[in-house]
Amino acid sequence: MMSLYLAVLTTLVLAQAQQPAPAAPPPLRPPTRAGVLRGEYGRYRANNDLLYYHLNVRIDPERKTIAGHNTIRFKMLKDDTRIQLDLYANLNVDRIVSGATTLEYQRELNTVWVDFAETLRAGRTYAIDFYYSGTPKESGRFGGFVFGKDPAGNDWIFTACEGQGASIWWPNKDQWRDEVERMDISVAIPSGLADVSNGKFIGKTDLGDGYTRWDWQVQYPINNYSVSVNIGNYEHFGDRLGDLPLDFYVLPGSLEKAKQQFAQAKPMVEAYEYYFGEYPFRKDGYKLIEVPYSGMEHQSAVTYGNRFANGYLERDWTGVGISTKFDFIIIHESGHEWFGNAVSAADVSDMWIHEGWTTYLECLYVERLFGADSALKYTNAYKSKIRNREPVITQRGIHRTPPQDMYFKGALFLHTLRNVVADEARWFRLIRDVFQKFKYRNIMTEELVAFVNEQLGRDLTPIFDQYLRRTDLPVLELAFNDAEGTVAYRWKADERAFNMPVKVGAPSAWQTIQPTTNWQVMKTPLKKDAFEVATDLFYVATRKQ
Ligand SMILES: [Zn+2]
Repeated sequence: MMSLYLAVLTTLVLAQAQQPAPAAPPPLRPPTRAGVLRGEYGRYRANNDLLYYHLNVRIDPERKTIAGHNTIRFKMLKDDTRIQLDLYANLNVDRIVSGATTLEYQRELNTVWVDFAETLRAGRTYAIDFYYSGTPKESGRFGGFVFGKDPAGNDWIFTACEGQGASIWWPNKDQWRDEVERMDISVAIPSGLADVSNGKFIGKTDLGDGYTRWDWQVQYPINNYSVSVNIGNYEHFGDRLGDLPLDFYVLPGSLEKAKQQFAQAKPMVEAYEYYFGEYPFRKDGYKLIEVPYSGMEHQSAVTYGNRFANGYLERDWTGVGISTKFDFIIIHESGHEWFGNAVSAADVSDMWIHEGWTTYLECLYVERLFGADSALKYTNAYKSKIRNREPVITQRGIHRTPPQDMYFKGALFLHTLRNVVADEARWFRLIRDVFQKFKYRNIMTEELVAFVNEQLGRDLTPIFDQYLRRTDLPVLELAFNDAEGTVAYRWKADERAFNMPVKVGAPSAWQTIQPTTNWQVMKTPLKKDAFEVATDLFYVATRKQ
């Protein structure tokens, strides 16, 4: 007769043999032509490397028009006669010139194929001036390009176009992989209004026709969608953090509230510098600019519309009494200066590199200012916002914004990884090294995983894949044999090679086990009900039997 213990094991082995094959990744959705044109890094994008833009425009609030040109300098990587640029179909292409030569072009949806009479040679640098005009369309979550009014009736014009793309209002190579090294932004507007764009303020010039041109210089690589104009009746006040200029632009009625609320910028920069290193756009400075929508991480020119109150739009964002201690928009959007703007994803499919990391940065900010217990509470409160309905990383090359899980599951995944590393000094060195290694670069998740594996000297790829490329959480299955005083354990995960340490037992004395997808058995003095899994440290599902 078999012992009860063997019987249990036999059952477990049988169960394992009968376990269905892991779920296949969800089927790919057929992309639209517009989606491909927008998202694919095709031949006529890949044949060149962006170096520089000078966007030089005049914005007329009365006629609701924008007109001007973008000077685009690029280096050819392959011999070719055509490049792909983008400008929404509702805007006019006035002419595209290279020196004295007018270039041919063809429009297809929101793409502009620019043709050269002679072959452009690999290794050489070229420049074109792309003249355009028209009325940009309002669209998307924050408006895209909005000709608005402030409460006093003054013009208040702004851009926020991450989803739709910058080509909603200006011509550029509208994709994520390739960024210009630097950029000049010149914006002519009716005198009396102010324009706040990205980078360092160079100066303003009265054009003598009722308009004034505001010149800004971006001295670092920049995402197209980060390029912004914010035009309004702004008041300016400033501060410094060491040699970093902090500049604030708000409507006159907001000035007193802003002076109070924006004091949070300093400890925010200090906290992120503590974890990751110097603010990455030092020469350009740091700015907060009041806008009528909640906010956006425009590089070195973070826009702010969080009502000068803590929390997120006056709500306790994670619902556990921590969010009310700080201004969510200042802390979150500014975190993107490190992850999103400095370290950028090369394709929107991998946008968790922006949002998952920045949400995790919020957790680190809480840890730095309010302590580890508050951070643990804040981080775990994000679980309630996670759906686990589709993978965090989406199909590449079609420009579809990934599901919201990229924020919250992304952050909980990094929190889990910290506990997998299980060495605080090593973890904090790792995330600092990740930032330092990849700042000013556009990367895919694979590069990040390879770097982490190399730094840690272990292969965490199946863990990354399970959390980011699969829908379901790993499930820690536990089968108790109270008579024998044992528990059998394994991971149920889509990734066959998934193996991840986890802490179990009693919270006062967690014990680390190394489950794989195969059953293992260990002795435990704890009965089924008393045996716990450290789910505050590891974002996993559990199943006891
Ligand atoms: Zn964000």
